[in-house]
Amino acid sequence: MVDDGRGLRFAIIGAGMAGILSAIKLQEAGLTDFTVYEKADRVGGTWRENTYPGLSCDVPSHLYSYSFAPTSDWSHRYSAGDEIQAYFERVAHEHDITGGIRFGDEVISCRFVDGRWSIETASGHRDEVDVVIAATGVLHHPHIPDFDGVEDFEGSMFHSSRWDHDVKLDGARVGIIGTGSTAVQMTSALVNRAGRLSLFQRTAQWIMPAENPPYSDDEKAEFRANPEQLAELRTNLTQMFDIFANAIVDADSPEMKMIAEMCRDNLESNVRDPELREALRPDYQAACKRLIVSPDFYDAIQQSNAELVTGAIDRVEATGVRTRDGRLHELDVLVLATGFKTDAFMRPMTVTGRDGETLAQAWAARPNAYMSISIPGFPNFFMLNGPNGPVGNFSLIEVAELQFGYIMQLLEPLRSGASREVTATRDAMKEHEAARVQAVEKTVWVTGCHSWYLDDRGIPATWPWSFDRFRSEMQAPHAAAFEYR
Ligand code: NAP
Repeated sequence: MVDDGRGLRFAIIGAGMAGILSAIKLQEAGLTDFTVYEKADRVGGTWRENTYPGLSCDVPSHLYSYSFAPTSDWSHRYSAGDEIQAYFERVAHEHDITGGIRFGDEVISCRFVDGRWSIETASGHRDEVDVVIAATGVLHHPHIPDFDGVEDFEGSMFHSSRWDHDVKLDGARVGIIGTGSTAVQMTSALVNRAGRLSLFQRTAQWIMPAENPPYSDDEKAEFRANPEQLAELRTNLTQMFDIFANAIVDADSPEMKMIAEMCRDNLESNVRDPELREALRPDYQAACKRLIVSPDFYDAIQQSNAELVTGAIDRVEATGVRTRDGRLHELDVLVLATGFKTDAFMRPMTVTGRDGETLAQAWAARPNAYMSISIPGFPNFFMLNGPNGPVGNFSLIEVAELQFGYIMQLLEPLRSGASREVTATRDAMKEHEAARVQAVEKTVWVTGCHSWYLDDRGIPATWPWSFDRFRSEMQAPHAAAFEYR
């Protein structure tokens, strides 16, 4: 790519995984005129915000790393959250991008005026840029259910992503609401510390077993000495995850059946008490909801101080949670592992595109973007991990890297000075969306469960084709799908 000297100015919103990636890649391309806006005081995004006990990533660490920053130092196959946070901090530091980050300042509005984006932050700071990259993440606005009586609770209560580390857990009576990946990781970590642990399950989950061995010093030394071995490990993991990624978009595939079998076996072989086993048995197909991966959840929930509570929650009271069967579950600590508002993306920021159209208008029905990246009417505004993109149990880092490469190609005419604006056309988005909505019919996400993947119509807000198809689409934008001015 050549830069004829027309310097483009960029705003990157968010210094999480995708924002760090964008800054590094822009810098590598010689596009050094950028500011990363970060509302918090550190990089890391979801890994900064989530600090709950047991936090780890259920994508193997050697896959959940940037392709350009492999490390031989991961301690485990699935390393813990603080290690992942340290990785992002180190990569940001080593690539010397932290100087370009404006910490503690949240972007509140972006307005497209006379061919440029006018940015305003919560502190009143203003900026004018040619290109905005919204790297604001997907799961960061906590979903807090409106339980009756919540204000009466006299113990400590917080959402899983807002952990209060001052609260004493050892010996405490801990309640966890939810059975998603977060609650499951937390249950395993807390059961040996809590005096009593009550897990409030509304919907049972299939659990995929997965060992989590540490890497020995010898193995790490071997990776250091032979980078090609590290690369080979990553390739093998990618191939393994591709099997999963392809299985979930074809509910009847043999691979999907194999995954279901592994989950069923895990339940049958590892839960001894038949009553508990039935209470833990989902009534829908494995991977319909995001598949939970855990080496030890069934062990944890069978500990003598743990209880799986399946009665629906009636209300929260001063001393605990009352279920509809009339039982009061007395608690000192109540953790809401109740997930996130998944359709917020960069909102509540206001975004006003060409011709005064607002994001609220463009997304009045629901969030959408062509290829998850470009919103018609919002030129030079790009999203990483935007709406309807690939989700599942695989690395969103690879997704963001591929998307960033695609955006850089879209920007070539702007860099050469041939154009000033680029955006997906409305027709391209309409066609893409029609094909997407048709393709989701084959996926496992529509086989009869409720999950955060489903939009308000019950249609999965996801990429419904193979991961290879995503890789191939990201190789080069379809020229006809974009309008340049
Ligand atoms: P989640 O998967 O959305 O789970 C939320 C849980 O809260 C569900 O069990 C839900 O029950 C329950 N819940 C919500 N409202 C409730 C209510 N009013 N009453 C009772 N129960 C209620 O959230 P999450 O566990 O935080 O995970 C969200 C996503 O974050 C994951 O799917 C994954 O993409 C990501 N994550 C990844 C990792 C990783 O290791 N890579 C770890 C943690 C999270 P229902 O099932 O009945 O709705």
